[in-house]
Amino acid sequence: MTEPVPAPLPVGATIGILGGGQLGRMLALAAARLGLRCHILEPAPGAPAAEVCGTLTTAGYDDGPALRAFAASVDVVTYEFENIPTTALDLLETLCPIHPGREALRVSQDRLTEKSFLNDLGLTTAPFAPVGSADELSAALAQIGTPAILKTRRFGYDGKGQVRITAPEDADAAWAAMNGADAILEGFVDFNHEVSVIGARGPDGQVACYDPGQNVHRDGILHTTTLPATLSHGQLTDAVLLTGRILNALDYVGVMGVELFVTPGGLIVNEIAPRVHNSGHWTQNGCVIDQFEQHIRAVAGWPLGDGRRHSDVVMTNLLGDDVAQAPTLARDPANAIHLYGKAEARAGRKMGHVNRRIGPAS
Ligand code: AMP
Repeated sequence: MTEPVPAPLPVGATIGILGGGQLGRMLALAAARLGLRCHILEPAPGAPAAEVCGTLTTAGYDDGPALRAFAASVDVVTYEFENIPTTALDLLETLCPIHPGREALRVSQDRLTEKSFLNDLGLTTAPFAPVGSADELSAALAQIGTPAILKTRRFGYDGKGQVRITAPEDADAAWAAMNGADAILEGFVDFNHEVSVIGARGPDGQVACYDPGQNVHRDGILHTTTLPATLSHGQLTDAVLLTGRILNALDYVGVMGVELFVTPGGLIVNEIAPRVHNSGHWTQNGCVIDQFEQHIRAVAGWPLGDGRRHSDVVMTNLLGDDVAQAPTLARDPANAIHLYGKAEARAGRKMGHVNRRIGPAS
């Protein structure tokens, strides 16, 4: 029997957000536009979302009393990052609804589980093998060949926890770099370019996907997302349909980012992120309803908004000292600036982004 669809949260209801980084900040801003309140729980003081949310709890994810008080004050819990400790989720889910749900977190927290899930859905990933020791790495290299990438199964982001292996002789150094963490060896995908789809699904099963954006990384960190992406009509349809398939399989509620490699043989899924995604920031100036509002609408049980692209956009991340260029960039009327209010501009730190409108949707 299918579960009844819950009633939409009323205006004035409170969304709880785990994590107060830039994604939490932009979620809180979107919630405020809809007349919804936000309570953010974040361990670090002075987090980017602190100055834009109604209520902030500064506490660790292992602080049981703080988690209980947080859950008691909100109508639904969502999150801005996928590596929330299981113990925190175990407690929270006894107290209030969490969207996206546990299954999406379980699948996306571990690259091995994630790839197996995607293959079981009939989607193509890079060839992969689990690696838990130097011997297993040798066996995996014999099976998959080089070049390959060794990645930690958990807690990797922005290219961290990854080592490229170009020849079998690199194996020992690569395994040492994992510091004993369980890993996965992935065959190197010879892709033309990378795209991502930001998809949303509501509790009633309604799905809405944004147009795929084309991503360029520098030093493992997203540099630009460009709309439209270079894709044939068939590839674009495939990208959107496979995203819908992932969302439905997880009975997902909220926004998800799906990263894809575009190869001559078709689309290969790199990874999924059960949250709003850096490669979806372009939607703030390319669509009427952006990914942040879409996520809030989904978790609040409101109807999904119109995600059609009205403008072609290039999103560029502002890292470290790049943020000092913001006043100059703001002189150009094509640029929309989004800064995260971070005090310290460390090298490589995401400080903001600029969405440059390059014309009406083509
Ligand atoms: P990830 O953290 O898995 O998203 O990897 C970060 C970036 O490394 C990707 O966006 C790709 O540019 C590159 N990369 C990761 N895995 C592979 C792979 N199996 N083959 C080729 N490039 C990859």
